[in-house]
Amino acid sequence: MASPRSASDDPRSGNRPTQIDWRAVGLRRTPQREIVLGLVQSTRDHPTADWIHHEARRILPDISLATVYRTLRILKEKGLIHEFSGGASPSRYDGVRGDHEHVRCVRCGMVEDVAIPEVGDVRERVAERTGFRMSSFPLLFHGLCGRCFRELEERGERSPQGVAPGGQRI
Ligand SMILES: [Zn+2]
Ligand SMILES: [Zn+2]
Repeated sequence: MASPRSASDDPRSGNRPTQIDWRAVGLRRTPQREIVLGLVQSTRDHPTADWIHHEARRILPDISLATVYRTLRILKEKGLIHEFSGGASPSRYDGVRGDHEHVRCVRCGMVEDVAIPEVGDVRERVAERTGFRMSSFPLLFHGLCGRCFRELEERGERSPQGVAPGGQRI
């Protein structure tokens, strides 16, 4: 699995960490929370906890992976970040605001953003038909990323039914 690039040298990171009013979200402001949230928001690569831990240690050398996981859980509970958990590969985290959907590779776990404005219509229809008020929680599509698709094709492992390893249909 390709690990996400460092936030500082990622050309796509124009995504400035949002200033959080910690008291308004009901959390005490701590360096750990600020750094972990800032790292998740600094990249569009949907990083793993390991990557966040690696980057956080540059700033807070003593921060443990357990603290990173606990902090991610707290930030998620407060709705500041999203977690994409899935199968055999580690969870990915997203701190990017604004409506966007996601596609996740069933093989390597990579998560990418995808803008589908039409999804707004789908949410409205769901609301009309059910009386539910839709939250903005993003949809998650599954498939094989281009790199995994090519790798499987080269090895001749891709079955004609379009089933990825692990039995998931693609
Ligand atoms: Zn992949
Ligand atoms: Zn995203």
